[in-house]
Amino acid sequence: MATIRFEAIAESQSRIRINIEDEGRRSTLFAKNVFNEERMLQYLTKDALESVQSAIFSGSKIDRKIADQVAEAMKGWAITMGATHYTHWFQPLTGSTAEKHDAFLDLLPDGRALEKFGGRQLVQQEPDASSFPSGGIRNTFEARGYTAWDPTSPAFIYETTLCIPTIFVSYTGEALDNKAPLLRALHAVDEAATAVAKYFDKNVTKVSATLGWEQEYFLLDKALANSRPDISLTGRTLIGQTAAKGQQLDDHYFGTIPGRVLSFMSDLEKECTKLGIPVKTRHNEVAPNQFELAPVFEEANLAVDHNLLLMDVMDKIADRHSFKVLFHEKPFAGINGSGKHNNWSLATDTGVNLLSPGTTPMKNLQFLTFFVNTIKAVDTYEELLRSSIASAGNDHRLGANEAPPAILSIFIGTQLSRVLDELEGVSKGKLSPEEKTELKLNVVGKIPEILLDNTDRNRTSPFAFTGNKFEIRGVGSKTNCAKPMTILNTIVAKQLIAFKKEVDVLIDKKNLKKDEAVFNVLREYIKTSKRIRFDGDGYSDVWEKEARKRKLSNNKTTPEALKVLTSKESLELFKSMKVMSEIEVKARQEVELEAYILHLQIEGRVLNELVYGHIIPAAIEYQNTLIQNVLGLKEIYGAAHKKLSEGQSNIIEQMAEYLVALKKNTDAMTETRKKANKLTDSHKKAVAYAENVKPYFDEIRYHCDKLEQLVDDQVWPLTKYRELLFIK
Ligand code: ADP
Ligand code: MG
Repeated sequence: MATIRFEAIAESQSRIRINIEDEGRRSTLFAKNVFNEERMLQYLTKDALESVQSAIFSGSKIDRKIADQVAEAMKGWAITMGATHYTHWFQPLTGSTAEKHDAFLDLLPDGRALEKFGGRQLVQQEPDASSFPSGGIRNTFEARGYTAWDPTSPAFIYETTLCIPTIFVSYTGEALDNKAPLLRALHAVDEAATAVAKYFDKNVTKVSATLGWEQEYFLLDKALANSRPDISLTGRTLIGQTAAKGQQLDDHYFGTIPGRVLSFMSDLEKECTKLGIPVKTRHNEVAPNQFELAPVFEEANLAVDHNLLLMDVMDKIADRHSFKVLFHEKPFAGINGSGKHNNWSLATDTGVNLLSPGTTPMKNLQFLTFFVNTIKAVDTYEELLRSSIASAGNDHRLGANEAPPAILSIFIGTQLSRVLDELEGVSKGKLSPEEKTELKLNVVGKIPEILLDNTDRNRTSPFAFTGNKFEIRGVGSKTNCAKPMTILNTIVAKQLIAFKKEVDVLIDKKNLKKDEAVFNVLREYIKTSKRIRFDGDGYSDVWEKEARKRKLSNNKTTPEALKVLTSKESLELFKSMKVMSEIEVKARQEVELEAYILHLQIEGRVLNELVYGHIIPAAIEYQNTLIQNVLGLKEIYGAAHKKLSEGQSNIIEQMAEYLVALKKNTDAMTETRKKANKLTDSHKKAVAYAENVKPYFDEIRYHCDKLEQLVDDQVWPLTKYRELLFIK
């Protein structure tokens, strides 16, 4: 009998739901563990408070004296909250977060202990950078890297550690993380969007990108998850016959949340609330054991930090409830994978959402300006935006038969399409008074009521306008949102700068009024960005053909998708927007390729181990039972046994066929891997893995799954899909 599997099942059945202690109302609990503005008011001197506020608002530097004061205040607060350690919390290019804890403790020369944490410790730290991926930056330059305080994201206490959000850079200034380029992109879009927003409201002095992510995930019983080497080591099932029942009944989606899961969610939400993560909605997703959690949107840098923190907290809380969270984009074949929609917009410091239509024609012209410029930006850089969501895991969604496809397109709905169609007809140059009135009344003036009933949502679109924000749907559930957010905000910044330049030329040189100039430029953008707009079914072959005609990229694998990062245009873009230098871009491309190769390499190894260590032995064991049976029948019945053992013999032969094919494919996969490993160029190596190695995974899986259907359930060693997904 397959002991681990059955022990795991028994263990999963013996779980008791944990009761969650009530610690009071959400609103009083909110941000209890965060050194936010409220705490700063309480703990900081006026000078220090103003200095931090100005750093948050305009990115100004905080001097050492002030940093000392802030550190002292933070320490005081943290200690009263029970913290014993502090850490610089950062986002190395591995995609997750890293931390190194130091105790507040220090010793005086006379041996007495005291709690120490000064401005120096707050502002800068030097973690051992050598084991984080740097894409070659460290080889070329200094070996060391340091972390530097990001005052725009407040420090928080997790368990007993004061965590200080930081950027991670090399000594020569190259970003070694995902946060530094994001902050630069957010700065670029702030400057560009503020300049354009001033056309409509002189009082705007800052524009922030906003992000609201929606995190999808699977939850499995810990014992069941750990019983599968593939889930433990790769986060997904590499083999496994799909269960007789999948998601076809749609009985999980928005259904009643199971008790144990509900306890986990309450516990998680309580922890998030204390950490200032404004979680709001939770529900079952489409696939069995799949769930979603979404917060209220926030400023993008903060939202990115909160998503990373959330993923970390989820792991820990899940463990407390004997669950394992799977963030992998495609943990199970045959049912939906997990994504992380990124809802994005731009907000002014005067409280206006620039992608929300307003109550006056002028406000709506502002809306149209940002709306059309975003479309134009995505049209110009669609391939680059696609590259920002590429990963080994996400390849199973994008480019496979899953929503959304690898082709980037924008859905805006029929009503807004009609508005753009009308704007396309605006006259060149000066507008007649009649045309202006007509535009104001019947085109621009009509938008608010239109959007209210903009209900025709398209679920397959990778980039959709949903009323007052755009939603990037292709982001993988595991992806650090900093990556797509860096690209999106950079390309929109670039586009808005170009827009402003064109409008200013029309105003200054052609004597057009501001609104005439805006209409004129938007008209051209609408005309030239049409190919990116698509409202139909994103999965269909028809769209694939059509997209090819429109010359939209369709990069189905990560190595293909990453290529554009270092194109001349991309490098120029990053440089001109001061988001990344050529070295930084190349380093990221290298790190991503390397991560892709490593993922596939590990999957290949695990698969090999599963086949030889688990599947073949189980199949042979059962085959032997059948052989014994056939031999026994022969002994008793002589020649007549043939007829009596026909079924058994048939299974023996079928199994033999699958076993032969399984071994052949597994060995061939290993050989191909060896060949791929010899390549020294990362891109070529990644392509070899994608094109030569990966196809074997499906072949191997096919034969394993066939054997699973034949082998005695009692002998099968790996926990089955129905057990992983349907045991409550
Ligand atoms: P759904 O799209 O699921 O119907 P909502 O429209 O309420 O639901 O929004 C989904 C997500 O979009 C939430 O995470 C929300 O915080 C986020 N969101 C809403 N408005 C904005 C905005 N202006 N900027 C960024 N994210 C937003
Ligand atoms: Mg949504």
